[in-house]
Amino acid sequence: MTREGKQGRLVIAVDGPVGAGKSTAARLLAERLGCRYIDSGAMYRALAWKALQMNVDLQDEPCLMRLIGDTSITLEGSGDGHIVFVDGQEVSREIRTPEVEQASSNISTLASIRRVMVARQREMASQGGVVMDGRDIGTVVFPDADVKFYLEARLEERAKRRYLEARRAGVAGDLEKFTQEIEIRDARDMGRSASPLRKAEDAVTIDTTDLNVVQVVAAMENEINRRVRRSEGSA
Ligand code: C5P
Repeated sequence: MTREGKQGRLVIAVDGPVGAGKSTAARLLAERLGCRYIDSGAMYRALAWKALQMNVDLQDEPCLMRLIGDTSITLEGSGDGHIVFVDGQEVSREIRTPEVEQASSNISTLASIRRVMVARQREMASQGGVVMDGRDIGTVVFPDADVKFYLEARLEERAKRRYLEARRAGVAGDLEKFTQEIEIRDARDMGRSASPLRKAEDAVTIDTTDLNVVQVVAAMENEINRRVRRSEGSA
């Protein structure tokens, strides 16, 4: 198989905290490798959106389990992000509100919900050729991923990115508020007992604080090429 062919079959895990630049880099990397990009956070957001619509208590695990069992979540690729469908209804914009963001952060602490999401994520990647980003991709979803990346950046930089993103989307907010919210989400993502966010031992860390997305993707591609060459050498 050609090197390009091999790259298009890889499973690449990208984890890291909010604002580290995972989704932009993962999307661009997938495009360059000819892989599918899957934003696992969009799946938690989609379920959270439906839970809010149905007025389901976000701590009521049995009720949320029934809800997820009855919910189809579909991600379709598009140039600048996923088109997300819940039970056939497009909710790509709706799942990006601060309210849904908070709710998704809450329900993602529930172990049983995570188990269902992980099974669905594995199913989506069963043919290989996937770049998936999230919090537990290298540690839980694909512990045997071909290459794992852990993206991180300084808190102030992450807050600034979220602030600018929100401003571009016409959402008000001040930098201090974004900083506090990120700190809360970091604490919840890293402190939960079910699949806390942590770097997989074999993940390559990229500090994106002073890098633009092109530089981040170049670093990822270098690492992937190195691994593919090494496996060719040992074949
Ligand atoms: O990545 P994003 O911020 O869109 O994810 C929304 C929420 O879903 C996050 O706050 C995080 O807590 C949760 N999440 C998760 N595991 C993943 C992806 C997202 O717990 N693999």
